[in-house]
Amino acid sequence: MPIATVNPATGETLVTYEAMDGEEIERRLSAAEAAFRTYRTTGFAERARLLGRAAGLLDEDRDDIARTMTVEMGKPVTQARAEAAKCAKAMRWYADRAEELLADEEPAEADVKDSGASRAVVRYRPLGPVLAVMPWNFPLWQVIRFAAPALMAGNVGLLKHASNVPQTALYLEGLFRRAGYPEGCFQTLLIGSGEVEEILRDPRVRAATLTGSEPAGRAVASVAGDEVKRTVLELGGSDPFIVLPSADVEQAARVAVTARVQNNGQSCIAAKRFIVHTDVFDAFAEHFSTAMAALKVGDPLAEDTEVGPLASERGREDLEALVDEAVESGATVLCGGERPEGLTDDGWYYAPTVLADVTPEMRIHQEETFGPVATLYRAADLEEALAIANDTPFGLSSNVWTRDEAEVDRLVRDLDAGGVFVNGMTASHPALPFGGVKRSGYGRELSGHGIREFCNITTVWHG
Ligand code: NDP
Repeated sequence: MPIATVNPATGETLVTYEAMDGEEIERRLSAAEAAFRTYRTTGFAERARLLGRAAGLLDEDRDDIARTMTVEMGKPVTQARAEAAKCAKAMRWYADRAEELLADEEPAEADVKDSGASRAVVRYRPLGPVLAVMPWNFPLWQVIRFAAPALMAGNVGLLKHASNVPQTALYLEGLFRRAGYPEGCFQTLLIGSGEVEEILRDPRVRAATLTGSEPAGRAVASVAGDEVKRTVLELGGSDPFIVLPSADVEQAARVAVTARVQNNGQSCIAAKRFIVHTDVFDAFAEHFSTAMAALKVGDPLAEDTEVGPLASERGREDLEALVDEAVESGATVLCGGERPEGLTDDGWYYAPTVLADVTPEMRIHQEETFGPVATLYRAADLEEALAIANDTPFGLSSNVWTRDEAEVDRLVRDLDAGGVFVNGMTASHPALPFGGVKRSGYGRELSGHGIREFCNITTVWHG
Protein backbone atom coordinates (compact mmCIF):
# COMPACT_ATOMS: atom_id res chain seq x y z
CA MET A 1 0.00 0.00 0.00
CA PRO A 2 1.52 3.41 -0.90
CA ILE A 3 2.11 5.83 1.96
CA ALA A 4 -0.33 8.49 0.89
CA THR A 5 -3.21 10.75 1.82
CA VAL A 6 -6.20 9.78 -0.32
CA ASN A 7 -9.33 11.76 0.51
CA PRO A 8 -12.12 9.21 1.19
CA ALA A 9 -14.77 11.80 0.33
CA THR A 10 -13.47 12.18 -3.24
CA GLY A 11 -11.05 9.32 -3.91
CA GLU A 12 -8.40 11.90 -4.81
CA THR A 13 -4.73 11.23 -3.94
CA LEU A 14 -3.49 14.42 -2.28
CA VAL A 15 0.07 13.62 -1.14
CA THR A 16 2.32 10.59 -1.57
CA TYR A 17 5.42 9.96 0.53
CA GLU A 18 8.52 7.89 -0.16
CA ALA A 19 9.02 5.19 2.43
CA MET A 20 12.11 5.73 4.61
CA ASP A 21 15.11 3.71 3.46
CA GLY A 22 17.27 1.38 5.54
CA GLU A 23 19.77 4.11 6.37
CA GLU A 24 17.10 6.44 7.71
CA ILE A 25 15.51 3.65 9.74
CA GLU A 26 18.92 2.81 11.23
CA ARG A 27 19.47 6.47 12.10
CA ARG A 28 16.14 6.57 13.88
CA LEU A 29 16.69 3.33 15.78
CA SER A 30 20.06 4.65 17.00
CA ALA A 31 18.44 7.94 17.98
CA ALA A 32 15.79 6.05 19.96
CA GLU A 33 18.38 4.03 21.81
CA ALA A 34 20.50 7.10 22.58
CA ALA A 35 17.46 9.09 23.71
CA PHE A 36 16.36 6.30 26.03
CA ARG A 37 19.72 6.24 27.81
CA THR A 38 19.21 9.77 29.11
CA TYR A 39 15.42 10.16 29.03
CA ARG A 40 15.00 7.18 31.36
CA THR A 41 16.87 9.09 34.08
CA THR A 42 14.53 12.11 34.02
CA GLY A 43 12.13 12.58 36.91
CA PHE A 44 8.35 12.58 36.76
CA ALA A 45 8.20 16.37 37.09
CA GLU A 46 10.28 16.89 33.94
CA ARG A 47 8.32 14.26 32.01
CA ALA A 48 5.05 15.84 33.13
CA ARG A 49 6.25 19.29 32.08
CA LEU A 50 7.04 18.02 28.56
CA LEU A 51 3.78 16.11 28.18
CA GLY A 52 1.80 19.08 29.50
CA ARG A 53 3.44 21.29 26.87
CA ALA A 54 2.55 18.81 24.15
CA ALA A 55 -1.07 18.83 25.39
CA GLY A 56 -1.14 22.64 25.25
CA LEU A 57 0.18 22.64 21.68
CA LEU A 58 -2.37 20.03 20.67
CA ASP A 59 -5.14 22.23 22.05
CA GLU A 60 -3.86 25.14 19.98
CA ASP A 61 -3.66 22.97 16.86
CA ARG A 62 -7.06 21.36 17.34
CA ASP A 63 -8.88 22.77 14.31
CA ASP A 64 -6.00 22.16 11.91
CA ILE A 65 -5.19 18.62 12.96
CA ALA A 66 -8.91 17.76 13.01
CA ARG A 67 -9.17 18.84 9.40
CA THR A 68 -6.10 16.81 8.48
CA MET A 69 -7.56 13.68 10.08
CA THR A 70 -10.87 14.20 8.30
CA VAL A 71 -9.17 14.62 4.94
CA GLU A 72 -7.02 11.53 5.53
CA MET A 73 -9.63 9.08 6.83
CA GLY A 74 -13.08 10.65 6.50
CA LYS A 75 -14.40 11.02 10.07
CA PRO A 76 -16.82 13.93 10.59
CA VAL A 77 -14.73 16.97 11.49
CA THR A 78 -16.77 17.56 14.66
CA GLN A 79 -15.69 14.11 15.87
CA ALA A 80 -12.09 14.78 14.83
CA ARG A 81 -12.01 17.89 17.04
CA ALA A 82 -13.44 15.89 19.93
CA GLU A 83 -10.72 13.27 19.37
CA ALA A 84 -7.98 15.91 19.58
CA ALA A 85 -9.49 17.33 22.79
CA LYS A 86 -9.70 13.85 24.29
CA CYS A 87 -6.02 13.26 23.53
CA ALA A 88 -4.96 16.45 25.32
CA LYS A 89 -7.06 15.38 28.31
CA ALA A 90 -5.41 11.94 28.42
CA MET A 91 -1.96 13.52 28.20
CA ARG A 92 -2.73 15.74 31.19
CA TRP A 93 -4.22 12.79 33.07
CA TYR A 94 -1.00 10.80 32.73
CA ALA A 95 1.18 13.87 33.37
CA ASP A 96 -0.67 14.34 36.67
CA ARG A 97 -0.98 10.70 37.74
CA ALA A 98 2.04 8.78 36.47
CA GLU A 99 4.16 9.34 39.57
CA GLU A 100 1.42 7.99 41.80
CA LEU A 101 0.62 5.08 39.44
CA LEU A 102 4.28 4.05 39.30
CA ALA A 103 5.18 4.70 42.92
CA ASP A 104 7.32 2.06 44.62
CA GLU A 105 5.24 -0.69 46.20
CA GLU A 106 6.12 -2.15 49.56
CA PRO A 107 4.96 -5.69 50.34
CA ALA A 108 3.48 -6.31 53.82
CA GLU A 109 6.07 -6.17 56.58
CA ALA A 110 5.50 -9.79 57.60
CA ASP A 111 6.05 -10.95 54.01
CA VAL A 112 9.24 -8.87 53.69
CA LYS A 113 10.58 -10.50 56.85
CA ASP A 114 9.50 -13.93 55.64
CA SER A 115 11.53 -13.39 52.43
CA GLY A 116 14.59 -12.85 54.57
CA ALA A 117 14.86 -9.16 53.71
CA SER A 118 15.32 -6.20 55.99
CA ARG A 119 13.50 -4.13 53.34
CA ALA A 120 11.97 -4.88 49.93
CA VAL A 121 10.29 -2.71 47.30
CA VAL A 122 8.84 -3.19 43.84
CA ARG A 123 9.95 -0.48 41.42
CA TYR A 124 8.51 0.26 37.96
CA ARG A 125 11.36 0.97 35.58
CA PRO A 126 11.02 1.68 31.84
CA LEU A 127 11.74 -1.00 29.24
CA GLY A 128 13.26 1.01 26.37
CA PRO A 129 12.20 1.90 22.83
CA VAL A 130 8.66 0.59 22.17
CA LEU A 131 7.38 0.07 18.63
CA ALA A 132 3.74 1.16 18.15
CA VAL A 133 1.96 -0.19 15.06
CA MET A 134 -1.19 1.86 14.83
CA PRO A 135 -4.38 2.06 12.73
CA TRP A 136 -6.04 4.91 10.90
CA ASN A 137 -9.45 4.89 12.58
CA PHE A 138 -8.57 7.19 15.49
CA PRO A 139 -5.29 8.44 14.08
CA LEU A 140 -4.43 10.66 17.04
CA TRP A 141 -6.09 8.85 19.91
CA GLN A 142 -4.70 5.39 19.21
CA VAL A 143 -1.19 6.85 19.27
CA ILE A 144 -1.60 9.14 22.28
CA ARG A 145 -3.20 6.35 24.28
CA PHE A 146 0.11 4.51 23.87
CA ALA A 147 2.51 7.47 23.88
CA ALA A 148 1.29 9.38 26.96
CA PRO A 149 1.76 6.50 29.43
CA ALA A 150 4.85 5.13 27.66
CA LEU A 151 6.66 8.48 27.79
CA MET A 152 5.60 9.14 31.39
CA ALA A 153 7.03 5.74 32.36
CA GLY A 154 10.38 6.76 30.81
CA ASN A 155 10.16 4.74 27.59
CA VAL A 156 10.67 6.22 24.14
CA GLY A 157 8.36 5.62 21.16
CA LEU A 158 8.72 4.55 17.54
CA LEU A 159 5.50 4.95 15.60
CA LYS A 160 4.64 2.92 12.50
CA HIS A 161 1.32 4.45 11.64
CA ALA A 162 -1.15 3.17 9.03
CA SER A 163 -0.07 4.01 5.49
CA ASN A 164 -3.17 6.13 4.81
CA VAL A 165 -2.59 8.67 7.62
CA PRO A 166 0.98 9.90 6.98
CA GLN A 167 0.25 13.57 7.63
CA THR A 168 -1.18 12.81 11.05
CA ALA A 169 1.81 10.54 11.73
CA LEU A 170 4.26 13.32 10.87
CA TYR A 171 2.24 15.84 12.87
CA LEU A 172 2.64 13.63 15.96
CA GLU A 173 6.43 13.51 15.66
CA GLY A 174 6.48 17.28 15.24
CA LEU A 175 4.18 17.78 18.22
CA PHE A 176 6.55 16.04 20.63
CA ARG A 177 9.57 17.80 19.14
CA ARG A 178 7.93 21.22 19.47
CA ALA A 179 7.03 20.40 23.07
CA GLY A 180 10.75 20.11 23.81
CA TYR A 181 11.26 16.34 24.06
CA PRO A 182 14.91 15.41 23.46
CA GLU A 183 15.60 14.15 19.93
CA GLY A 184 14.74 10.48 19.51
CA CYS A 185 12.08 10.31 22.26
CA PHE A 186 9.20 10.04 19.82
CA GLN A 187 9.78 9.28 16.14
CA THR A 188 7.58 8.40 13.22
CA LEU A 189 8.80 5.73 10.83
CA LEU A 190 7.27 6.22 7.40
CA ILE A 191 7.35 2.58 6.37
CA GLY A 192 5.06 -0.09 4.97
CA SER A 193 3.97 -3.07 7.04
CA GLY A 194 6.63 -5.22 5.32
CA GLU A 195 9.38 -3.40 7.27
CA VAL A 196 7.88 -4.07 10.68
CA GLU A 197 9.39 -7.52 11.21
CA GLU A 198 13.00 -6.41 10.82
CA ILE A 199 12.51 -3.45 13.13
CA LEU A 200 10.78 -5.58 15.74
CA ARG A 201 13.65 -8.07 15.62
CA ASP A 202 16.19 -5.31 16.23
CA PRO A 203 17.57 -5.74 19.76
CA ARG A 204 17.20 -2.01 20.42
CA VAL A 205 13.40 -2.36 20.22
CA ARG A 206 12.22 -3.83 23.52
CA ALA A 207 8.47 -4.24 23.09
CA ALA A 208 5.57 -3.58 20.74
CA THR A 209 1.97 -2.53 20.85
CA LEU A 210 -0.44 -3.00 17.96
CA THR A 211 -3.97 -1.83 17.37
CA GLY A 212 -5.58 -3.11 14.20
CA SER A 213 -6.85 -6.24 12.53
CA GLU A 214 -6.41 -9.79 13.71
CA PRO A 215 -4.00 -10.77 10.88
CA ALA A 216 -1.76 -7.77 11.64
CA GLY A 217 -1.87 -8.62 15.35
CA ARG A 218 -1.01 -12.23 14.70
CA ALA A 219 1.94 -11.26 12.47
CA VAL A 220 3.43 -8.87 15.01
CA ALA A 221 2.78 -11.15 17.97
CA SER A 222 4.47 -14.13 16.28
CA VAL A 223 7.63 -12.17 15.56
CA ALA A 224 7.58 -10.69 19.07
CA GLY A 225 7.05 -14.18 20.48
CA ASP A 226 10.00 -15.49 18.51
CA GLU A 227 12.11 -12.63 19.89
CA VAL A 228 10.64 -13.00 23.40
CA LYS A 229 9.45 -9.41 23.43
CA ARG A 230 6.45 -8.13 25.24
CA THR A 231 3.35 -7.08 23.27
CA VAL A 232 -0.02 -5.51 23.84
CA LEU A 233 -2.62 -6.27 21.18
CA GLU A 234 -5.86 -4.40 20.70
CA LEU A 235 -7.59 -6.04 17.77
CA GLY A 236 -11.09 -6.08 16.41
CA GLY A 237 -14.39 -6.32 18.20
CA SER A 238 -17.98 -7.26 17.52
CA ASP A 239 -19.47 -5.90 20.70
CA PRO A 240 -22.96 -6.98 21.74
CA PHE A 241 -25.59 -4.45 22.82
CA ILE A 242 -28.19 -6.34 24.87
CA VAL A 243 -31.59 -4.79 25.56
CA LEU A 244 -33.82 -6.48 28.16
CA PRO A 245 -37.48 -5.71 28.96
CA SER A 246 -36.90 -3.45 31.98
CA ALA A 247 -34.71 -1.07 29.93
CA ASP A 248 -35.73 2.37 28.74
CA VAL A 249 -36.11 1.17 25.16
CA GLU A 250 -36.27 4.57 23.49
CA GLN A 251 -33.17 5.76 25.29
CA ALA A 252 -31.39 2.48 24.44
CA ALA A 253 -32.28 2.89 20.76
CA ARG A 254 -30.99 6.49 20.72
CA VAL A 255 -27.69 5.49 22.29
CA ALA A 256 -27.51 2.43 20.02
CA VAL A 257 -27.35 4.69 16.97
CA THR A 258 -24.34 6.63 18.31
CA ALA A 259 -22.73 3.44 19.56
CA ARG A 260 -22.96 1.94 16.07
CA VAL A 261 -22.13 4.87 13.78
CA GLN A 262 -19.50 6.76 15.77
CA ASN A 263 -16.46 7.33 13.56
CA ASN A 264 -18.52 6.25 10.51
CA GLY A 265 -18.94 2.86 12.17
CA GLN A 266 -15.20 2.16 12.14
CA SER A 267 -14.49 1.72 15.81
CA CYS A 268 -13.31 -1.43 17.51
CA ILE A 269 -15.58 -0.70 20.50
CA ALA A 270 -18.62 0.22 18.43
CA ALA A 271 -21.67 -1.84 19.34
CA LYS A 272 -22.18 -4.07 16.30
CA ARG A 273 -24.66 -6.78 17.28
CA PHE A 274 -27.94 -5.65 18.85
CA ILE A 275 -29.53 -8.45 20.84
CA VAL A 276 -33.03 -7.57 21.96
CA HIS A 277 -35.49 -9.44 24.17
CA THR A 278 -38.54 -10.50 22.22
CA ASP A 279 -40.90 -8.46 24.47
CA VAL A 280 -39.28 -5.18 23.38
CA PHE A 281 -37.86 -6.26 20.03
CA ASP A 282 -40.41 -4.58 17.77
CA ALA A 283 -40.33 -1.27 19.65
CA PHE A 284 -36.52 -1.21 19.66
CA ALA A 285 -36.27 -2.19 15.98
CA GLU A 286 -38.67 0.58 15.02
CA HIS A 287 -36.93 3.37 16.98
CA PHE A 288 -33.45 2.17 16.01
CA SER A 289 -33.97 1.75 12.27
CA THR A 290 -35.95 5.00 12.00
CA ALA A 291 -33.12 6.92 13.68
CA MET A 292 -30.42 5.13 11.62
CA ALA A 293 -32.26 5.99 8.39
CA ALA A 294 -32.54 9.66 9.45
CA LEU A 295 -28.78 10.18 9.95
CA LYS A 296 -27.17 12.86 7.83
CA VAL A 297 -24.60 11.18 5.59
CA GLY A 298 -22.27 13.41 3.59
CA ASP A 299 -19.15 15.55 3.36
CA PRO A 300 -17.18 14.90 6.55
CA LEU A 301 -15.88 18.49 6.57
CA ALA A 302 -19.45 19.83 6.91
CA GLU A 303 -20.35 20.73 10.50
CA ASP A 304 -23.72 18.98 10.42
CA THR A 305 -22.57 15.66 8.93
CA GLU A 306 -23.17 12.67 11.19
CA VAL A 307 -21.76 9.90 8.98
CA GLY A 308 -18.96 10.40 6.44
CA PRO A 309 -17.39 7.99 3.95
CA LEU A 310 -15.51 4.84 4.88
CA ALA A 311 -11.75 5.30 5.07
CA SER A 312 -10.89 3.21 2.03
CA GLU A 313 -12.40 1.74 -1.09
CA ARG A 314 -11.40 -1.71 0.13
CA GLY A 315 -13.19 -1.11 3.44
CA ARG A 316 -16.40 -0.30 1.63
CA GLU A 317 -16.09 -3.32 -0.65
CA ASP A 318 -15.56 -5.62 2.35
CA LEU A 319 -18.59 -4.19 4.13
CA GLU A 320 -20.80 -4.38 1.04
CA ALA A 321 -19.83 -8.01 0.52
CA LEU A 322 -20.80 -8.88 4.11
CA VAL A 323 -24.20 -7.22 3.72
CA ASP A 324 -24.91 -8.58 0.23
CA GLU A 325 -24.05 -12.15 1.21
CA ALA A 326 -26.27 -11.91 4.30
CA VAL A 327 -29.20 -10.57 2.28
CA GLU A 328 -28.77 -13.32 -0.32
CA SER A 329 -28.92 -15.85 2.52
CA GLY A 330 -32.17 -14.44 3.93
CA ALA A 331 -31.33 -11.43 6.15
CA THR A 332 -33.96 -8.66 6.12
CA VAL A 333 -32.93 -5.07 5.41
CA LEU A 334 -34.72 -2.70 7.82
CA CYS A 335 -32.89 0.32 6.41
CA GLY A 336 -29.93 1.04 4.13
CA GLY A 337 -28.21 -1.97 2.60
CA GLU A 338 -26.75 0.04 -0.28
CA ARG A 339 -24.68 3.06 -1.23
CA PRO A 340 -26.57 6.22 -0.32
CA GLU A 341 -28.33 8.08 -3.09
CA GLY A 342 -27.38 11.61 -4.08
CA LEU A 343 -23.71 11.43 -3.09
CA THR A 344 -20.79 11.23 -5.47
CA ASP A 345 -19.72 7.66 -6.05
CA ASP A 346 -16.11 8.86 -6.03
CA GLY A 347 -16.42 8.99 -2.23
CA TRP A 348 -16.60 5.71 -0.29
CA TYR A 349 -19.98 6.24 1.33
CA TYR A 350 -22.29 3.53 2.64
CA ALA A 351 -25.80 4.07 3.99
CA PRO A 352 -26.48 3.39 7.69
CA THR A 353 -27.93 -0.11 7.62
CA VAL A 354 -29.89 -2.35 9.96
CA LEU A 355 -30.23 -6.06 9.18
CA ALA A 356 -32.58 -8.46 10.94
CA ASP A 357 -32.98 -12.26 10.60
CA VAL A 358 -29.22 -12.83 10.70
CA THR A 359 -28.26 -16.47 11.27
CA PRO A 360 -25.02 -18.06 12.56
CA GLU A 361 -24.15 -19.45 9.11
CA MET A 362 -23.79 -15.96 7.68
CA ARG A 363 -20.30 -14.48 7.53
CA ILE A 364 -21.63 -11.24 9.01
CA HIS A 365 -22.49 -13.14 12.21
CA GLN A 366 -18.85 -14.03 12.85
CA GLU A 367 -16.88 -11.14 11.33
CA GLU A 368 -16.39 -7.54 12.35
CA THR A 369 -18.53 -5.05 10.42
CA PHE A 370 -16.24 -2.01 10.09
CA GLY A 371 -18.79 0.54 8.93
CA PRO A 372 -22.32 1.77 9.75
CA VAL A 373 -24.02 -1.65 9.62
CA ALA A 374 -25.92 -3.11 12.57
CA THR A 375 -27.22 -6.64 12.95
CA LEU A 376 -30.33 -7.20 15.03
CA TYR A 377 -31.07 -10.42 16.92
CA ARG A 378 -34.23 -11.49 18.77
CA ALA A 379 -33.64 -13.34 22.07
CA ALA A 380 -36.32 -15.26 23.95
CA ASP A 381 -34.71 -14.63 27.35
CA LEU A 382 -31.51 -13.65 29.14
CA GLU A 383 -29.95 -17.07 28.53
CA GLU A 384 -30.39 -16.82 24.81
CA ALA A 385 -29.17 -13.19 24.77
CA LEU A 386 -25.99 -14.27 26.55
CA ALA A 387 -25.47 -17.21 24.21
CA ILE A 388 -25.77 -14.97 21.13
CA ALA A 389 -23.54 -12.31 22.70
CA ASN A 390 -20.75 -14.80 23.39
CA ASP A 391 -21.08 -16.54 20.01
CA THR A 392 -18.25 -14.56 18.41
CA PRO A 393 -14.49 -14.94 18.15
CA PHE A 394 -14.14 -11.45 19.67
CA GLY A 395 -14.39 -10.19 23.24
CA LEU A 396 -13.58 -6.50 23.43
CA SER A 397 -16.43 -4.75 25.27
CA SER A 398 -20.20 -5.11 25.71
CA ASN A 399 -23.25 -2.97 26.43
CA VAL A 400 -26.24 -4.10 28.50
CA TRP A 401 -29.54 -2.34 29.10
CA THR A 402 -31.64 -3.41 32.07
CA ARG A 403 -32.84 -1.98 35.39
CA ASP A 404 -32.74 -5.40 37.05
CA GLU A 405 -29.68 -5.74 39.32
CA ALA A 406 -29.80 -9.54 39.28
CA GLU A 407 -29.62 -9.47 35.47
CA VAL A 408 -26.69 -7.05 35.63
CA ASP A 409 -24.82 -9.39 38.00
CA ARG A 410 -25.45 -12.34 35.71
CA LEU A 411 -24.29 -10.46 32.60
CA VAL A 412 -21.16 -9.11 34.28
CA ARG A 413 -20.35 -12.64 35.42
CA ASP A 414 -20.90 -14.34 32.08
CA LEU A 415 -20.12 -11.98 29.18
CA ASP A 416 -16.80 -12.83 27.50
CA ALA A 417 -15.51 -9.28 27.15
CA GLY A 418 -12.96 -6.84 28.55
CA GLY A 419 -15.72 -4.39 29.52
CA VAL A 420 -19.40 -4.37 30.45
CA PHE A 421 -21.13 -0.99 30.12
CA VAL A 422 -24.50 -0.95 31.87
CA ASN A 423 -27.24 1.39 30.53
CA GLY A 424 -24.76 3.28 28.37
CA MET A 425 -22.35 2.80 25.48
CA THR A 426 -18.73 1.74 25.63
CA ALA A 427 -16.31 4.64 25.64
CA SER A 428 -12.67 4.82 26.62
CA HIS A 429 -11.46 7.06 29.45
CA PRO A 430 -7.90 7.52 30.72
CA ALA A 431 -8.84 6.17 34.16
CA LEU A 432 -10.50 2.97 32.90
CA PRO A 433 -8.56 -0.05 31.61
CA PHE A 434 -9.19 -0.82 27.95
CA GLY A 435 -8.64 -4.13 26.17
CA GLY A 436 -10.19 -7.46 25.37
CA VAL A 437 -10.20 -11.22 25.58
CA LYS A 438 -10.39 -13.94 22.90
CA ARG A 439 -9.43 -12.69 19.42
CA SER A 440 -9.76 -9.07 20.52
CA GLY A 441 -6.25 -9.28 21.93
CA TYR A 442 -4.51 -9.11 25.28
CA GLY A 443 -2.97 -6.64 27.65
CA ARG A 444 -4.59 -3.40 28.71
CA GLU A 445 -4.23 0.20 27.71
CA LEU A 446 -5.06 3.29 29.78
CA SER A 447 -5.32 3.55 33.60
CA GLY A 448 -2.61 2.21 35.90
CA HIS A 449 -2.79 -1.13 34.10
CA GLY A 450 -1.85 0.51 30.77
CA ILE A 451 1.16 2.41 32.08
CA ARG A 452 2.56 -0.70 33.78
CA GLU A 453 2.40 -2.84 30.59
CA PHE A 454 5.71 -1.49 29.36
CA CYS A 455 7.54 -1.41 32.65
CA ASN A 456 10.24 -3.63 34.04
CA ILE A 457 8.63 -4.58 37.34
CA THR A 458 11.79 -4.74 39.41
CA THR A 459 12.16 -6.44 42.80
CA VAL A 460 14.63 -4.64 45.05
CA TRP A 461 15.60 -6.80 48.05
CA HIS A 462 17.85 -5.69 50.89
CA GLY A 463 19.54 -8.26 53.12
P1 NDP B 1 -4.58 -3.34 9.56
O1 NDP B 1 -4.62 -4.18 10.77
O2 NDP B 1 -4.06 -3.94 8.32
O3 NDP B 1 -3.69 -2.04 9.88
C1 NDP B 1 -3.35 -1.61 11.17
C2 NDP B 1 -1.85 -1.33 11.26
O4 NDP B 1 -1.12 -2.55 11.15
C3 NDP B 1 -1.33 -0.44 10.13
O5 NDP B 1 -0.30 0.37 10.64
C4 NDP B 1 -0.79 -1.46 9.15
O6 NDP B 1 0.15 -0.91 8.27
C5 NDP B 1 -0.19 -2.48 10.07
N1 NDP B 1 -0.06 -3.83 9.53
C6 NDP B 1 -0.90 -4.48 8.69
N2 NDP B 1 -0.46 -5.72 8.45
C7 NDP B 1 0.70 -5.87 9.12
C8 NDP B 1 1.65 -6.93 9.25
N3 NDP B 1 1.48 -8.09 8.64
N4 NDP B 1 2.74 -6.73 10.02
C9 NDP B 1 2.91 -5.56 10.65
N5 NDP B 1 2.05 -4.51 10.57
C10 NDP B 1 0.95 -4.66 9.82
O7 NDP B 1 -6.01 -2.73 9.34
P2 NDP B 1 -6.77 -2.37 7.97
O8 NDP B 1 -6.64 -0.93 7.76
O9 NDP B 1 -6.33 -3.24 6.85
O10 NDP B 1 -8.26 -2.73 8.37
C11 NDP B 1 -8.75 -4.07 8.18
C12 NDP B 1 -9.69 -4.45 9.29
O11 NDP B 1 -9.01 -4.42 10.54
C13 NDP B 1 -10.86 -3.52 9.50
O12 NDP B 1 -11.88 -3.76 8.61
C14 NDP B 1 -11.21 -3.82 10.94
O13 NDP B 1 -11.97 -4.99 10.98
C15 NDP B 1 -9.87 -4.06 11.59
N6 NDP B 1 -9.35 -2.85 12.25
C16 NDP B 1 -9.51 -2.72 13.59
C17 NDP B 1 -9.09 -1.59 14.23
C18 NDP B 1 -9.26 -1.43 15.68
O14 NDP B 1 -9.42 -0.29 16.15
N7 NDP B 1 -9.18 -2.49 16.45
C19 NDP B 1 -8.48 -0.47 13.52
C20 NDP B 1 -8.30 -0.72 12.10
C21 NDP B 1 -8.74 -1.88 11.52
P3 NDP B 1 -0.24 -0.47 6.75
O15 NDP B 1 -1.29 0.57 6.89
O16 NDP B 1 1.03 0.03 6.19
O17 NDP B 1 -0.76 -1.72 6.11
